[in-house]
Amino acid sequence: RNRKRLVDCRSDIDRWNAPFLAIYESLVPAEEEKAKQKQLLASLEKLVNKEWPRAQLYLYGSCANAFGVSNSDIDVCLAIEDTDINKSEILLKLAEILQADNLQDVQALTRARVPIVKLKDPVTGISCDICINNVLAVVNTKLLRDYAEIDGRLRELAFIVKHWAKKRGVNVTYQGTLSSYAYVLMCIHFLQQRKPAILPCLQGMEATYVVTVDDIECAYFDQVQKLREFGAKNTESIAKLVWAFFDYWAHLHDYANAVISVRTGSIISKRAKEWTRRIGNDRHLICIEDPFETSHDLGRVVDKYSINTLREEFDRAANIMQYDPDPCVTLFEPY
Ligand code: ATP
Ligand code: MG
Repeated sequence: RNRKRLVDCRSDIDRWNAPFLAIYESLVPAEEEKAKQKQLLASLEKLVNKEWPRAQLYLYGSCANAFGVSNSDIDVCLAIEDTDINKSEILLKLAEILQADNLQDVQALTRARVPIVKLKDPVTGISCDICINNVLAVVNTKLLRDYAEIDGRLRELAFIVKHWAKKRGVNVTYQGTLSSYAYVLMCIHFLQQRKPAILPCLQGMEATYVVTVDDIECAYFDQVQKLREFGAKNTESIAKLVWAFFDYWAHLHDYANAVISVRTGSIISKRAKEWTRRIGNDRHLICIEDPFETSHDLGRVVDKYSINTLREEFDRAANIMQYDPDPCVTLFEPY
């Protein structure tokens, strides 16, 4: 297959700015939803503190990273110091406490890759997953949220890409397609690479935020309010960026050799990371480096079948953005 791009961006691309922004606006959650989430978190914390007085609850994932659509589930991390008790025991105890307080559908999934307790709050109707001591996820949530403050186009692009991925069925990790987290990293990296750049590389700047989690030092410049003008020299519109994002993943990305890296704000080689061979189930068919757990490839869920599905979807999206008379509708048609 010849994947070389043959054409430049259609000249009428900016006609779709307003419709894309309208889609973005329709996905952004209302303020009262945030308030409900905070309220649920506070009542959960009270319950948890009866059993573990020093434990703390943190929101992470899309409810806290600025990339959450309305009515999504919330992700909560229980940070607890007692390392002598094992996670399964804590989860089972937690499930017992929550059940006794009349929370609905309480379920402890102790054997999942990330063990969690699931529940639904009958008062707010919010569903919630609670994990234990997954502090790295809390830190990468902050990194994503900080990037979102720098230039509004990141949030717009990521909402549109996540919406597309959900509608097209390519946001299902157990089927070998990518997580929401991976898609947001793809968007950040893409905006770091625009010329001129729309986003900086926060981990390449003087560190103003430093924490060590599970022996990994997480350090980056987090005074993002000082970077609000960073992307101003680039005036690309949201429609152009959506076009260019899919053009990149359909035609320009070097799947054989390249790893995208938000940590360095650049492309690095698979060879440098020793991601050229399949080891166990890690095939590295599309490589997205985790910004902190750098040995972790977020593309590792992708297998030899799902890589074709993904690339066909990128091709389809790129074609629609280039040729379709109504890209804002066609792009999101259910598969
Ligand atoms: P959605 O709106 O689809 O729920 P989300 O941002 O909550 O999106 P998830 O993929 O559910 O995304 O992941 C929740 C959080 O868990 C992420 O924001 C990230 O902090 C963390 N996370 C998810 N997958 C990974 C991973 N493979 N490695 C490290 N952290 C991850
Ligand atoms: Mg989530």
